[in-house]
Amino acid sequence: MATGLLLGSLINYFAADQAIIQNYFVNGIFHVIGSAFINALKMLVVPLVTFSLICGVCGIGDIKALGRVGLKSFLLYLLTTGLAITLALVVAITLAPGKDFIQQQTSSEFITKPAPALTDIFINLIPSNPVAAFAQGNMLQIIFFVILFSIAMLMTGEIGRQLADTAEKLNEVMMKVVTLVMDFAPIGVFCLMAKTFSEQGLALIVPMIGYFSVVILCLLLHALGTFSVLLAFFAKLNPLIFFTKMRPAHIFAFSTASSNATIPVTLYALEKRIGVNNTTAAFTVPLGATINMDGTAIMQGVATVFIANVYQIDLDISQYLTIVGMSILASIGTAGVPGVGLIMLAMVFNQVGLPVEGIGLILGVDRLLDMMRTVVNITGDAMVTCIVARGENTIDDIVFNDPEAGSLLDIHLPHKTPE
Ligand code: ASP
Repeated sequence: MATGLLLGSLINYFAADQAIIQNYFVNGIFHVIGSAFINALKMLVVPLVTFSLICGVCGIGDIKALGRVGLKSFLLYLLTTGLAITLALVVAITLAPGKDFIQQQTSSEFITKPAPALTDIFINLIPSNPVAAFAQGNMLQIIFFVILFSIAMLMTGEIGRQLADTAEKLNEVMMKVVTLVMDFAPIGVFCLMAKTFSEQGLALIVPMIGYFSVVILCLLLHALGTFSVLLAFFAKLNPLIFFTKMRPAHIFAFSTASSNATIPVTLYALEKRIGVNNTTAAFTVPLGATINMDGTAIMQGVATVFIANVYQIDLDISQYLTIVGMSILASIGTAGVPGVGLIMLAMVFNQVGLPVEGIGLILGVDRLLDMMRTVVNITGDAMVTCIVARGENTIDDIVFNDPEAGSLLDIHLPHKTPE
């Protein structure tokens, strides 16, 4: 990751107009390998979530417990997003980024795509055609259908049990596919970083330094502060160990800027390294990757205050409360793919009457912030998973405290064949 970042920045600085480097490396090798790697990750998501969720629901075993896990994780996701946006607003109002911002040119690059209507978000939870939902990778619809299907499996007794056994085997095999793809991670991550940074020069940040640093400050405060406190109090886990164990998932989230593409690695980290049982993680991780976006909510809070300052618009308390509510809803509606947070920001701006073209100002630095907020997004999912797992007694402290558990090095060890 560091080598890619360095090489990309050097290319951006010294070789931005060297056709050979641009054609053969940036848009050649880096682009091809990086995109192929992201495809390989995305390839895992739908089958892994499907088998894993079937095992999870069948493992929980009774519908009441399933409802409890569902409700708990849903409420915790809303709560942590609410905390994130509140923190972002308080810090941004205090530090007031954009107060003395000189608007050199207002970029008109940002063309607003219509944000989905709120009612549609709820209606579209239910797939009119599950096959289409699977084909398009629509996570919320897939989750809805698979949960319903798994509940039906529980209700059909022996037949369902046999199917669950098969799903368990398929899940085991899919986990193996995850580790195979992860073998290529160093090369894939290097190419992704080199490509992004050769296009996104760090110089872009300079005029936006105020906005940029307030977002990063809030992301850090939320991840290291809020998450640590919640982890220590409610999950009774050492936050330091938790963050260390989450490192592979952080690297993937940072280099792909997609919570969805990171699902396989988040699941791997939670189950194999942190010790959360599949019955909890299989349910909370895909749900979190789809509806829980603390990092995105933070960006939206700071962006709203920043744009209001730049355009010298005073927001009152009711508008701030609207921002909190809208960001929580936007977080539910934001798919875990790169850049969607910015599209959903248009919805927040419309609601409080800020000029949507203001988004053009922050567009340039959004990719970098997207990478960072995605790390916070998936860390929030994992943190809530740990709290729910503690409540359900589905976390294994021995695995959590074992520094070697789920070590990626395991993957490279040849399996001993019985003599
Ligand atoms: N890239 C973010 C994610 O996948 C969503 C966003 O903020 O655009 O989690």
